[in-house]
Amino acid sequence: TPVIGVLALQGDVREHLIALASADALARPVRRPEELAEVDGLVIPGGESTTMSKLAVLFGMLDPLRERVGAGMPVYGTCAGMILLADKILDPRSGQETVGGIDMIVRRNAFGRQNESFEAAVEVEGVADGPVEGVFIRAPWVESVGARVTVIAEHGGHIVAVRQGNALATSFHPELTGDHRVHALFVDMVRAVR
Ligand code: GLN
Repeated sequence: TPVIGVLALQGDVREHLIALASADALARPVRRPEELAEVDGLVIPGGESTTMSKLAVLFGMLDPLRERVGAGMPVYGTCAGMILLADKILDPRSGQETVGGIDMIVRRNAFGRQNESFEAAVEVEGVADGPVEGVFIRAPWVESVGARVTVIAEHGGHIVAVRQGNALATSFHPELTGDHRVHALFVDMVRAVR
C-alpha cells in the first residue's frame, strides 16, 4: 500500500487525508523534511497559496519539496496546491515562492472572489464513469502550458486540470466531495512509480 503524505502547513489537510484513505492509500500529514523523506507521494492541499509558500520557507520545506518533486516523486496539488506546483504565477504576491514542477503559468483567483465560488460538472481525462463534481473556491485557472503538459480538464474554455509526468493539479477540490476518483487516479500514479 502506498504511503501518501499531505503537506500540512495550512489548508484543507484533513479532507485530503480522508479522501486518500478511502482511495486505499496510507495517508499521513507531512510538516517536516524527515516526514517528506518517508512518503511515496504527496498532496499539496487547497488553502491560501501565499501563506502556504511563506510557511514552507519558515519550516525549511521549500528546498526539500523542490528536490523531491524534481526527482520525480508523484505530487498532486488542488487549488492553492496547483499554484504551488506552477513553474510561474501570473500575478504573484510579494515573497510568493512556488515549488514548481509543472511547466505552466497560473492565474490566481481567476474565477472571481470567494462569493463567486461555484460547482460544476467537469469531465477529467483518465477518470472513468462520467464527470466529477468540481468545487471551485477562489480558484485559479491555467493560462498556458508548455509542450510536456497534458491538459486533462477544462471548464468554460479555461484549463482546470493538468498532468506532467508524475505531477497532477486541479483548480477544483475533489477532497470536498464524497467522490474520490481523482484521488484514486493519483494513488494509481504513486503505485506505478513504486
Ligand atoms: N485563491 C487561493 C490562493 O490564491 C486558493 C483558494 C483555494 O485553495 N481554494 O491561494
